[in-house]
Parts: sequence; C-alpha cells; structure tokens
Amino acid sequence: ARPVVAIVGRPNVGKSTLFNRLAGKRIAIVEDKPGVTRDRIYAEAEWLNKYFTLIDTGGIEPDTEDIILSQMRRQAQIAIDTADVILFVVDGIEGLTSTDREVANMLRKSKKKVLLVCNKIDTPMTPDTIYEFYELGLGDPIAISASQGLGIGDLLDAVIELF
Ligand code: GDP
Ligand code: MG
Repeated sequence: ARPVVAIVGRPNVGKSTLFNRLAGKRIAIVEDKPGVTRDRIYAEAEWLNKYFTLIDTGGIEPDTEDIILSQMRRQAQIAIDTADVILFVVDGIEGLTSTDREVANMLRKSKKKVLLVCNKIDTPMTPDTIYEFYELGLGDPIAISASQGLGIGDLLDAVIELF
C-alpha cells in the first residue's frame, strides 16, 4: 500500500492550501475564515516517482476557541492512527500558540514520523520568528509558503526520505 501522509494543525494555518498544492489540484476548500473544510479529504500525490496518499485532517473546523483544542486532539489522533508521516503545520505569521504545544506533545509521544512545517513564510528571507518553533521538540521547522509555492520541493524531499 502507498504511504499515508496526514496534514494536521490549527484552523487557518493553511492546511488545505498546502493539501491542494501537494495534490496538484484544488480539492480542499480554502477560505479566509476557519470552519469551511467539509470533511476529511484524501488525494493521491507523487514526488520523484514516489506515490503517496495525502489526507487533510481539517474536517469541519470549529470557530469557537473552547472547541478548537478538543477537535485538534481528535484530528491529531486520526493522523497518529492512520498516517506513516505527519505534517504538523504551524503559522509563521501568528507564531507559536498553546494549542500548537498541546498537539506537538501528542505527536511527540506517538513516536510517529513528524515533519514540522512552518507555513506563511512568504518571502525568501526566513524571519527570526521561525526559531520559536524549535521548542516544540519536533526538529527543524521547514519553512514554506503554501500560497506562494515556496519551499515545497524541499518539504517533499523530506517527506519521501521518511518512507
Ligand atoms: P486551514 O484552515 O488550515 O485549512 O487553512 P486554509 O488553507 O483554509 O488557509 C487559511 C488562510 O490562510 C487562507 O486565507 C489562506 O489563503 C491563508 N494562507 C494559506 N497559506 C498561506 C501562506 O503560505 N501565506 C499566507 N500569507 N497565507 C496563507
Ligand atoms: Mg482546511
């Protein structure tokens, strides 16, 4: 079977934008407000002749703060249960949040292969703010801009290296 790569992260960090970019087509729905991804979405993806199944675990994302954390835990658990590689997406503009820390703890304990993906780095110069994500203990953040298409090749290289 093809390896499964799951995308997890807080609402609005750019999971669906990244999913569409990696899938090479617009499948997931991207909106300016959280709460618009209708369901878990799957796509087949390929990089350098390696094929894998991609999952956007976004689901129906809540916009009430108190529900976000429980929903995030559920999404992370789905990824832990089904994925070979997890892309944990954080927001390089908003910076590190307590929800990021909670989810990172779950992912770290799972012993799954996790890549820490710092999205919304829209210029070639990586800002110093990216360094705060090192404290999550998930290795070097991989800087990307899902909307601008920056850093995607390096990310995919790192993904297929883990298969
Ligand atoms: P999701 O809720 O995690 O699936 O996030 P979406 O993919 O729906 O994106 C949420 C918002 O972030 C949308 O307004 C996107 O256009 C925006 N976004 C996604 N990727 C980037 C990026 O690389 N840079 C910037 N500046 N905005 C982005
Ligand atoms: Mg989404």
